[in-house]
Amino acid sequence: MQETGSLSIHSENLFPIIKKWLYSDQDIFIRELVSNAADAIAKMKKLSSLGEAQLPEGEEFAVHVTIDAEGKTITISDNGIGMTDEEVRKYINQIAFSGAAEFLEKYKDASEDPIIGHFGLGFYSAFMVANLVEIHTLSYQEGAQSVLWSCDGSSSYEMKEGTRTRRGTDIILHVNEDGEKYLNTWDLRSILNKYCSFMPVPIYLANPAEEKKAEEEAEKNRKDTDPVPEKKDPEPINDVHPLWAKNPKDCTDEEYKEFYHKVFMDYREPLFWIHLNMDYPFHLQGILYFPKLGNEFESAEGQVKLYCNQVFVADNVKEVIPEFLLLLKGAIDCPDIPLNVSRSFLQNDGYVRKISDYITRKVADKLKSLFTSQREDYEKYWDDIHPFIKYGCLRNDKFLERVNGCIIYKSAVSQKYVTLDEYLEEAKKTHENKVFYTTDPRQQAQYIEALSGQKIDVVVLDTTIDAPFISQVESKKEGVKFFRVDANLSEALKDESLAEDVEQTEKAEKLFKDALHNDQLKVRLESLKDPKVSAMLEVSEESRRMQDMMRMYGGMGMMPSVNDETLVLNAASPVVQKLLASENEELSKTIAVQLYDLARISSRPLEAGELTAFIQRSQDLMQDLL
Ligand code: ADP
Ligand code: MG
Repeated sequence: MQETGSLSIHSENLFPIIKKWLYSDQDIFIRELVSNAADAIAKMKKLSSLGEAQLPEGEEFAVHVTIDAEGKTITISDNGIGMTDEEVRKYINQIAFSGAAEFLEKYKDASEDPIIGHFGLGFYSAFMVANLVEIHTLSYQEGAQSVLWSCDGSSSYEMKEGTRTRRGTDIILHVNEDGEKYLNTWDLRSILNKYCSFMPVPIYLANPAEEKKAEEEAEKNRKDTDPVPEKKDPEPINDVHPLWAKNPKDCTDEEYKEFYHKVFMDYREPLFWIHLNMDYPFHLQGILYFPKLGNEFESAEGQVKLYCNQVFVADNVKEVIPEFLLLLKGAIDCPDIPLNVSRSFLQNDGYVRKISDYITRKVADKLKSLFTSQREDYEKYWDDIHPFIKYGCLRNDKFLERVNGCIIYKSAVSQKYVTLDEYLEEAKKTHENKVFYTTDPRQQAQYIEALSGQKIDVVVLDTTIDAPFISQVESKKEGVKFFRVDANLSEALKDESLAEDVEQTEKAEKLFKDALHNDQLKVRLESLKDPKVSAMLEVSEESRRMQDMMRMYGGMGMMPSVNDETLVLNAASPVVQKLLASENEELSKTIAVQLYDLARISSRPLEAGELTAFIQRSQDLMQDLL
């Protein structure tokens, strides 16, 4: 048997297309060839389980990847189903005729071993890295004849009788210049680790020449007294039973944690995880972890790996995994998504959207169940998971709907967590529909103290995501308004029983404007319930939020910063009363400036110059007292 013939393709330019368009990443040739080998083995297993083929006793199925740096070849061997010459003609010569698709169609009811191929183009990715590809194959069929096929990347091939005696297939790549980098064991191993870590058949990587050299080296360095080292059995590079494929009932916490450490190289413990397992209307398995957030911002970046039948496809595929979930870490196996698909295909696929909706729902359900049945744990996780949840609420309405009731707020007063409804219920008597919050419990302690003195609770909202988040809450929950502790002083703290004294107010205003040389200063004299408070700065919530927003988007330079501060003087404070009654003009001014500084200090740190002046003035005042 010897023949030459033409590949049945219509365009001479197919190879450049495969190289450039279909696979943007050269590395995936190894994924394609190893998955073909794994497919061939899966088919063999299936045939034997159906009684259509006999296997030799004790045969171990495996894929071997072997590097020969000197001969410049990489060989991928399997002991799978093999191919007859007719099959080579059909599956290899006819490009884009996928044998996997045909096999699946024929045996679709007996599919416990999934087949990876879908597309019928994977094999040709070999030509990205090789200028000559050989196939040595022997079919499992009785009386089959071995076949040797070879092709140099042009559109003609050569096919003749081969010399292979064992069932299975060797694919030998004679690497081209681009492919030489894959002759490096370390590099090839890391690519195999990336794509093939969980393939369902054991995969071994070997570089015999390198191993022999290392052995000789070790032997040379071995002292006569040292024992002869035992030969170690080679270990597969992959784990054929990834945890996600197991029944969640059979997985222990230890196993989940171990899987997390190994796959994400994160030594920290994950907070908790969700094991996804779906059979209908599509297949999907996976594990999503909620990572512990580090202090640095960069570690807030997650990683969700997408697999197709245990073959790695890509990281962070936004079309399949909702963007906000990409803050998580996890592995998702979606056998129904083809390996080689373009992003635009995924974007327009309703089916992919269903998958994404399903994942979103599962995550929301998990949060809800934690909230209702393990609230204590949930509260412990909250500081780590809240940015993620809030981000999700902002990005995805369905998610917001589902988790809405499980959003909690930490009280700056009691350090306990409350839901919005719980807070509002408590607030009914004193400040209906108003939520007071602090963006910095330490800096704003004075205000928190004043509010909590009036039995008003204050919640902590101190991350960047909180500003847009509370705006969303306000827009969804009618009537509810959030005020930073320094935003709405009189409302909460004012003693309504005392009437305003217009004359005194005017006097105070004049005194402070003069003392501070500031005509624009807004001053209000008011009776607050707590006489210990002398003066406070009030900042308009709206304009402050606007400024925060501008700052967040970096647009500060374009808008003059509006000073929307009002100095609120407490008419019930003995200091203020004495100050307004004082006849000593000089001293009054000094005390006014001092009071203003004290109000500033309880709202923000003083600038260097301001601080120096404050300290000097304090000393002068003390000196006068002594
Ligand atoms: P796909 O895997 O999507 O079907 P490929 O181009 O990767 O497309 O492979 C084409 C076909 O060639 C396979 O479906 C299979 O029938 C056959 N084939 C490729 N590699 C092997 C192998 N190692 N053993 C047996 N058959 C193979
Ligand atoms: Mg394939």
